[in-house]
Amino acid sequence: MGFFKKIFGGGGGAEPQFEVVENRLCTDLTRYQVRVRKHGQEMYVEELFQAATKTKDLQFGRFFLLNENPFNPHFAPSLEEAIDWFKGRHLPKDGYPSIFWGKEVSFQCSICHKEATAPLFITKVEQLSVYTNVPMLMEIVGWRVIEVASDLMGPGMPCKILDMFKTKPIIKWFNPKSKFICLGCAHRLTGMGRQAELEDYVIF
Ligand SMILES: [Zn+2]
Repeated sequence: MGFFKKIFGGGGGAEPQFEVVENRLCTDLTRYQVRVRKHGQEMYVEELFQAATKTKDLQFGRFFLLNENPFNPHFAPSLEEAIDWFKGRHLPKDGYPSIFWGKEVSFQCSICHKEATAPLFITKVEQLSVYTNVPMLMEIVGWRVIEVASDLMGPGMPCKILDMFKTKPIIKWFNPKSKFICLGCAHRLTGMGRQAELEDYVIF
């Protein structure tokens, strides 16, 4: 598997930089793991390759991996679309439900349920090339966001979970603390001499 890194972005300083991680997946070795969405239809990438006679036939709307757990975002046909879809802009109209993570993340106090939001930064994007060598070289390339960060939690991975039959976007933070407490409740616990309990929480 190829592994190269590029740094994008910066520019005016408004958008923080992110890394592009390049990966390759050969369908001659791992079959029937990639589903491709094209013109409202869905197929295995092997079927897309078999039916293709021209480069144009390899165009697609999005693709995704079947063997991931938890599920990560779908792959977009361009880097720009991957960023847009992630933030909820210009979502694809291909008859397939689209979920997005947005530009902010919210935290909820475990005690009083007060919520706060913080900016979400994209830190890593995956560029995946899915290809076959049989009977000749054919490939499709897709992009998706694979790592984000917030000032409070540091880095994390965008994932999807099934919640009450609905797919929901979540972030799996690498930070081992998964409970949040607001400053007000933290002060109250400290006032009651229970500051030792704060060790389990991220304070916002
Ligand atoms: Zn609170």
